[in-house]
Amino acid sequence: MTHWLGNKLPEILESSLICTKCREKLIPAENGYACHQCGQHFKVKEGIPVFWNSPDSFKQSEADFYGQEAKAPSLASLCRNFYRPTAYDRDLYRMPFGHLKKQSLILSLGGGDGRHGLELLREGHSVLESDLAPASAAVAGKKIQESNIDGSWAVAAIDAEDIPFAPDTFDAVYICAALHQIPDQKAVAAGIRRCLKPGGKLILASEPASWFYKVIRPMAQIMGIRAGQLGQQSVGDEANRGFSHREIAGFINDCGARPTVIKPKFYLTGALYQATEAFFRLLPPGKREKISIRQWETELLTRLDRIIEYIPVIRRFPFWWIAVAEKK
Ligand SMILES: [Zn+2]
Repeated sequence: MTHWLGNKLPEILESSLICTKCREKLIPAENGYACHQCGQHFKVKEGIPVFWNSPDSFKQSEADFYGQEAKAPSLASLCRNFYRPTAYDRDLYRMPFGHLKKQSLILSLGGGDGRHGLELLREGHSVLESDLAPASAAVAGKKIQESNIDGSWAVAAIDAEDIPFAPDTFDAVYICAALHQIPDQKAVAAGIRRCLKPGGKLILASEPASWFYKVIRPMAQIMGIRAGQLGQQSVGDEANRGFSHREIAGFINDCGARPTVIKPKFYLTGALYQATEAFFRLLPPGKREKISIRQWETELLTRLDRIIEYIPVIRRFPFWWIAVAEKK
């Protein structure tokens, strides 16, 4: 029962699969995998294993929303014309890669359409790209197949609160802008603590800061331009509160790891993007597309942002956090 759409990796990972309920080894069975201890069964649908069976409506709703988003992004998540990546964005995106050992076996959680998994494959790693939504895993699988990349990979639908892998399976766990959407972060941490090898790396590539939800979201609410009000937000996004520096460090600790880097991203640049996004949402279609920001203005702000991260107190209030940690 090894499809997982990918290349070489499914056969390797199959022997590390464990039951999410009783932690017994999973055995390949009719149309999927089964636990002989408790009888739990996971189906493989169109080549993609779905390692969760929760009737939880929150999870179903998240999976439906992000499955749809992976296929056809909604207005709120499309990249705007005014948003052009800067050298600063690229530097910060690539920063964690330097902490990975060569040819790492990486579990990517909440990977959505697979863009980050593909990037990690290009870096020469082996990647299990996963998402709660089977439809997202399918989109990611297609994306990787079409890239014709020569590496070991697989895709799966995994609930990050119930990671179905035995102790010491992965060299690294990679999460980009997904952790803040997951309600039970203690459960996520327990799973990472188990499946990450000693000395393995945990990468939180981008998680929003908590002050944003206390200040910016209520302001957007008053103006009536919140993504939630526009009907373009998942239940996970709706419930999320972001992370303070202390909470990021706490999560890393719960994973049995110690932080190597906790790096802030965006101060003034973030303010510029948020203000521009607000205008975008306030303006009617036809006018909003004309909004633009001069690239040199953005580049200038990113330079100031690189300085602000050294100013006491203020440095604790960026828009995003990026963290790299090492398992003890
Ligand atoms: Zn079981």
